Formats: sequence, C-alpha cells, structure tokens
Amino acid sequence: MIIILGAGIIGLSIGYDLLKKGKKVKIFDSSAIKAKSTNASIGMLAPLIEAKPLEKELFKLMTASKLIWEKLQQNKNFSQAIGLKNNSSLMVALNKDDEEKLKFKKKFFETLGYNSVFLSKNETLRREPLLNSNVTASLFCNKQDQVNPILYRDFLLKEILKMKGKIINEKIIKKITVKKNKIFFNDKSLNFDKVIISCGAWSNEIIYNSFGIKFPTRPLKGISLTLKAPLIKFNHNLWFRNIYIAQRDNGILAVGATEEEKGFDNSVRMDELFFLINSLWESLPKLEDISLNEIKVGLRPAVFDGNPIIGPLEEVSQDIICNFGHYRNGILLAPISSQIISQYIIEENIAKEYNFFSPKRFNL
Ligand SMILES: Cc1cc2nc3c(=O)[nH]c(=O)nc-3n(C[C@H](O)[C@H](O)[C@H](O)COP(=O)(O)OP(=O)(O)OC[C@H]3O[C@@H](n4cnc5c(N)ncnc54)[C@H](O)[C@@H]3O)c2cc1C
Repeated sequence: MIIILGAGIIGLSIGYDLLKKGKKVKIFDSSAIKAKSTNASIGMLAPLIEAKPLEKELFKLMTASKLIWEKLQQNKNFSQAIGLKNNSSLMVALNKDDEEKLKFKKKFFETLGYNSVFLSKNETLRREPLLNSNVTASLFCNKQDQVNPILYRDFLLKEILKMKGKIINEKIIKKITVKKNKIFFNDKSLNFDKVIISCGAWSNEIIYNSFGIKFPTRPLKGISLTLKAPLIKFNHNLWFRNIYIAQRDNGILAVGATEEEKGFDNSVRMDELFFLINSLWESLPKLEDISLNEIKVGLRPAVFDGNPIIGPLEEVSQDIICNFGHYRNGILLAPISSQIISQYIIEENIAKEYNFFSPKRFNL
C-alpha cells in the first residue's frame, strides 16, 4: 500500500500515476487546511516565461514536464475536459520601460535556445484587438500554454476513485511515526510500502515534528482572482508587468497574482486587492464590463533555493519520500514529479538528471 499525505495537485498526480501502474493507494488530506496552493493557482504552463538565469536545473525540469503536457494535449477530449490549451503567450508592454525589458527577455530566451517574436503595437492589437490601446509592443512566446487546475484536480479525484484509490478526509496531521512497515498518525495505524509527503507548504512542519529534520522552506502567499467577462475573448495567455491573465472557455478570466512572504496568513488584505485591481486597470480597457467572480488565497510551497524537493528522505528511510516545494510552478511540474517518484517506487531508482532535486542536497 502506498500512503500519500496531501491531496493537492502533487499528491493527486502521483496517486493517479501509481494507480494506473497497478499500485494500491490511500491519500489522506485535511479539509481543515486553508489556502491550499492548487486551489488558487492559474495553471500557466510556461517554462520559458518562468525561467530565471540562475535556475538552469529547474528550467530543464519544467521543460521536461511541459513535454509531458504536450503529449497529453494530443488527446483532444481529455484536453477539453481539463481546459488544457495550446494558446501560447503574449508578454505585453505598456510603455518604453516594459519594451526594453521584453527586448532583454528575448535575448535571455535565445540563450536558452528559444526564439520569441517581438511584435509592434499594431501587430499586437491585430492578434489581441480587445487589449487596451495604450499597449506599445509585445513578445510572442510559442507553446507557453495553460490548463485549468481546478478541472484537472477534479479529473484526478474522479479517476482515482474510479480506479479504487481511497481519498480520506483526515484531521490535520501534525506528526507521523514509522515503525518497520507501519505508519501511525492521529488515531490511525496502517501498513505501508512507501509513504509520500506531498502536503505543499505544510510538509516541512510534519517532517520536523516527526523526525526533527528542518528543510529551508517557506510559504509564499498569493492572491488570484477570477472575473466574469462575457464580452471579452483573448486568444493568448497575457503577461503584463505585474499580473498575468488566462482566458478560460466560459467567459471567465483568471488573473494572477500577488506574491508576499506573510507566513501562514490566509486572509485577503486590501493592499493585495488594490495591487491586483490597479494592475488590471492599467492593463485592460472597459473594466466596467468585467465583474468579480472569486477571490482566492493560496500558500505557494517555496524552498529557499527555488527548487522542489523530490526523492526519498534517506536520513530516515528509503520508504519515506518527499514530493513538495514546487513553489510557483507546481501545476506545470506535477507530471514530471509524478514520473520521477513512480519510477522510484516501481524501479527503485531515480534518473541521474533528477538527483539534483533530492532532499540530500541540504546535508541535513
Ligand atoms: C496565486 C497562485 C497562482 C499560481 N499559479 C500557478 C501557475 O500559473 N502555474 C503553476 O504551475 N503553478 C502555479 N502556482 C503554484 C502551484 O499552485 C503550486 O506549486 C502547487 O499547487 C503545489 O501543489 P501541492 O499539491 O504541493 O500543494 P497544495 O495545493 O497546497 O496541496 C497540499 C495539500 O496537502 C494538504 N495538507 C497540508 N498539510 C496537511 C496536514 N498537516 N494534514 C493533512 N493534510 C494536509 C492540504 O489540505 C492540501 O490539499 C500558483 C500558486 C498560487 C498561490
């Protein structure tokens, strides 16, 4: 039996993969945890746009995951069911300063082996006629796509139950104890072959309480919005200076996001809302045609070196596996993380190129 702690996108993806490979899976999650990251995420699948100069390994990981998403995209019914699109991205400039930044980005993308296309104001407005007339230019980035994370989460939940996996709503798990092949938490005592800890921003607390090991992680709070905009239809994902916008199919725009270090605070503060609304006002025309649908709060599971923690917690046991810390890219990275962990569980090894993400890198 594989025990998975946490049913965010990371826990569900690995549960789904393992069930497909014939394993028995039980997933434990607590509805008492607020501000789950998956629920607030936008679902941009954009390794290029998310790339940073000092994050080469992460870029390779994101690119490998994007290739899995592209294979999944070939199944049209599946793609439609989870809002998986190949609609590419436009990074939009609203002034000369933005334009210079986009030119710099274009050069950086070239160092990664990608060609993006610089578009004039007129070309930008031809591709996106509903943008504000104050746009000055844009950068077209092919294959920087989106999925609807809520539809994907719901798909995984349904499929897991169909394959006879169990998803159990549990009291908050503070600590686990492991003795040989038995795991104990709350009032439970279960036999297990492997335990996977995928509790997002809360994973570290469980590991510290259980084994006294502390990873350098922190929650990074994000607020996102969904808006009802039935009269607007954008053809691309749009990235502005402060915000990004994903067009959903049903007249909804998903808008992300603030990013602040506020511990485990899960409230919505007025300054955060102001930041998003002010940025929207700068970026889009006709705000009077748009109404608010939902405000969402999520705690991104961030690690100080920016990379997820994927692999066995060897200091404690080969059978206790970490899969958390996916920070701002967990939706994009869900398929590759699951592939790495299911290969570890089934073939008992982790491909060399992914050792970089092992918990061992912290010398704890
Ligand atoms: C505003 C915002 C926008 C984002 N946009 C994108 C994007 O466009 N693209 C992208 O790739 N990523 C994006 N992300 C990042 C992405 O959401 C995360 O990286 C990803 O969701 C992490 O998934 P997870 O399963 O590790 O964590 P979570 O979704 O937080 O799930 C953790 C699960 O563990 C459970 N849990 C935690 N602690 C306990 C406990 N003690 N006991 C029992 N259960 C517990 C929780 O209930 C929860 O269900 C965004 C994040 C935010 C906040």
